[in-house]
Amino acid sequence: MTGVSSFPVDLFVIGAGSGGVRAARIAAGHGARVMIAEEFRIGGTCVIRGCVPKKLLVYASRFADDFCDARGYGWNVGETSFDWLAMVAAKEKEISRLSAIYRENLEKAGVDLVEERAEIAAPRSVRLASGRVINAKHILIASGATPELAPSIPGLEHAITSNEIFDLKSFPKRLMIVGGGYIAVEFASLFAKLGAKVTQVMRASNILRGFDEDMRVGLAEELGHSGVTFATGCLPTRIEKRAGALDVALSNGDNLVVDQVLIATGRRPNTAKLGLESVGVATDAHGAVKVDDGSTTNVATIHAVGDVTNRINLTPVAIREGQAFADRVFGGKPGLVDHDCVPSAVFTTPEIGTVGLTEALARERYQVVDIYRSRFRPLKAAVSGRSERTVMKIVVDGTSDQILGAHILGHEAGEMIQLLAIAVKMKATKADLDATMAVHPTAAEELVTMRTRTARFIHERD
Ligand code: NDP
Repeated sequence: MTGVSSFPVDLFVIGAGSGGVRAARIAAGHGARVMIAEEFRIGGTCVIRGCVPKKLLVYASRFADDFCDARGYGWNVGETSFDWLAMVAAKEKEISRLSAIYRENLEKAGVDLVEERAEIAAPRSVRLASGRVINAKHILIASGATPELAPSIPGLEHAITSNEIFDLKSFPKRLMIVGGGYIAVEFASLFAKLGAKVTQVMRASNILRGFDEDMRVGLAEELGHSGVTFATGCLPTRIEKRAGALDVALSNGDNLVVDQVLIATGRRPNTAKLGLESVGVATDAHGAVKVDDGSTTNVATIHAVGDVTNRINLTPVAIREGQAFADRVFGGKPGLVDHDCVPSAVFTTPEIGTVGLTEALARERYQVVDIYRSRFRPLKAAVSGRSERTVMKIVVDGTSDQILGAHILGHEAGEMIQLLAIAVKMKATKADLDATMAVHPTAAEELVTMRTRTARFIHERD
């Protein structure tokens, strides 16, 4: 069908991922007529090829340590092996189930779903791939982001990204991962635990730029124990396909033969060919849609939430942005998303959980900074003989005693930081932690029993 539809909608959402689906459902709940377009699978990156399938693979990978621990605790574990294709099938089943729930929830909310690509044609109209044009009072761009393929080298077409890795036809026994960020370390960790020989190649001198130094150093050490080999301060310069394997040349002169090269060098907002230029929606140098605090662009009828805005690229943030947008525009509820003090976790083994300022940032911004740090071997690993270490660090404003940041490297750090983030967000002080009774025996009890300051830094001002 071509031409102008007679069906006017109040909100047209481009992209049925975390942010878009939340905005669509909430707006519909406020009585708006909502249409949402998705060109791939309902659920977006998080459900289809991000957080959820990644966490399932992380669970799979952790059985390696469980088998090892079990032996230390008297179990006689027989021979174990891992079936990659069985795991891929189990993962597919689960994400299909979740995608179906997303679809059902949209239907229940009365949202009209169109499964095709949509582009902005005018400040109040959208053109679908079929040629159909929909007029809408408001347009929400929630098109997410896509892996950035860098560096640009000969043979890059032989490499894969996080989009492809979940559905490989065979397990990559030798895996090269390029990059040192969230995605790179998570896959390095889980594939090493699953038995792959992993080489992580990065331009920086260590993983996870921007994270607290103790977490970076501690995790690099743990990844090393898991068998990950690092090539730092270097990058691949060429990838050649030879006899079913990939021959990769590195800038440090080394040559490696691997089964797959995973590029994890960041993500780019999905703004290409969306029609933004034609209506004058402003984007930044990285291609992200520029928005104000209420997620509205420089064109009053066009808004954007989630990774496409490149603010904080995390699922719960996109969901909050979608909710706040729909509440504000269709529910008469003003209220902005607070992007400060957002906790996050890196799902390596062991995990990192982090909230607030790193020691380095606190020392830049505050006059007196107190550091409390603890490093210990978790009880479970001590008995089974594994070398794993847990690191906990609290960064405190030495003047007011307020906790500025908390960083945990250890088993279930993601779970711990979610709870500790409440205290940090409420501006708890170190004295509040000290006043809290410990739960024994746990790892988390260390957070409320660190009495002795590890270091105090005083910023000499002119
Ligand atoms: P990140 O921004 O975390 O890391 C990108 C990595 O690629 C860095 O190591 C960076 O190096 C390197 N890099 C960037 N550009 C180049 C280049 N041109 N050549 C070589 N190396 C380069 O991106 P990710 O792709 O890992 O993840 C994207 C986002 O997704 C994250 O920032 C996070 O917001 C989200 N995410 C969150 C997860 C979670 O919450 N657990 C899990 C996965 C993703 P350098 O350090 O030198 O700049």
